[in-house]
Amino acid sequence: RELQVNLRDRSYPIYIGEGILDEIASLFEKHDIRKASPLMIVTDEHVAPVYLDRITQSLMAGGYQVASYVVAAGERSKALSVLEDIIGAALDAGLDRSSAIVALGGGVVGDLAGFVAASYMRGIRFVQIPTTILAHDSSVGGKVAVNHPKAKNIIGAFHQPELVLYDTATLRTLPEREIRAGLSEMIKHGLIWDAEFTAWLDQHAEEILALEHDKLEYGLYMGCQVKAYVVSQDEKENDLRAILNLGHTIGHALEAVAGYNELLHGEAISIGMVGSAKLAVRMGRSVRIYTETKRILAKFGLPVRLPEHLDTDRIMKAMMHDKKFKEGRTVFVLPTEIGRVEINKQVPVEWVREVVEELKREA
Ligand code: NAD
Ligand code: ZN
Repeated sequence: RELQVNLRDRSYPIYIGEGILDEIASLFEKHDIRKASPLMIVTDEHVAPVYLDRITQSLMAGGYQVASYVVAAGERSKALSVLEDIIGAALDAGLDRSSAIVALGGGVVGDLAGFVAASYMRGIRFVQIPTTILAHDSSVGGKVAVNHPKAKNIIGAFHQPELVLYDTATLRTLPEREIRAGLSEMIKHGLIWDAEFTAWLDQHAEEILALEHDKLEYGLYMGCQVKAYVVSQDEKENDLRAILNLGHTIGHALEAVAGYNELLHGEAISIGMVGSAKLAVRMGRSVRIYTETKRILAKFGLPVRLPEHLDTDRIMKAMMHDKKFKEGRTVFVLPTEIGRVEINKQVPVEWVREVVEELKREA
């Protein structure tokens, strides 16, 4: 399957399917990745042993000069110190303004390598090769960033890739916990945009979790499509794009307070989405929004309860970095029904705190 992200002169394709990486060199050539300058693959220590050699060989056979850099796996690699190391390696490898950075991995590598591409020599070409389910989200849309110990994704840029190569065969080596966490963003795409897709996810949960090929590919395609459409309407997040943050206000705070290691991103936003549904009910929406959101997430084996030992004050404080609190009210993406959300600017901060407390007691 092929999909286009429409951003005028920065439009780009997403290729999704089994075995796409077999054609990597010709796809690079087709999309203007230059052979005269070296390119650099950035990946992590889990992905490198399985895919790095094969991809390097294919690219070299196609006439490319290839360098690579392997980071430690996990969220903690999204750090300025790692960025500095990669840039050092890029200089050593002779990358110039016509070079490309290739992100081979999940959202961590994508965000990190993307920020390298955005900042090296004020911006060079960038290719995304997502290898997690979660990365159907992170590889599309051009948001790239590293974390600060005080706040997630706070040092970043917008930098769109030249192309996205999503080879579904790579997903077979994913650990089960990562499969579930990645599906959290897929469910989010249903919950914000498409009731029918949400019902389809609900109906096919077992097959998707088992990575049944047709179902998985369709889910990834639909998730990418929602993301691509929303981003094409509002690339720099002036209004519409904010709906993609469903569950992320609470989720990002949980990740920061848990020290970026206890909860995976998808797990944190699963809890966050339950929180948003609870807030929506308090704001007068049907209780069904809450029961359904929670039921679907739980069906995919995602957490819906907030770990009790995470301190509520610290969670609230971490949330402050994320947004403005004015006269005791704040902005939240809230579901209005399954498949639709609104940006609500009138959410009482006190209710947010109460919901955080309630989330610790979720059954
Ligand atoms: P990740 O990149 O850490 O990958 C998850 C784990 O799976 C890692 O241990 C990785 O080494 C391993 N792995 C990756 N591919 C594998 C494969 N094919 N086989 C075996 N193991 C594999 O995490 P993620 O969940 O992909 O991404 C999370 C990150 O994405 C977060 O930092 C989040 O903030 C970011 N994100 C960004 C955006 C965006 O728009 N830029 C959107 C959503 C999430
Ligand atoms: Zn996310």
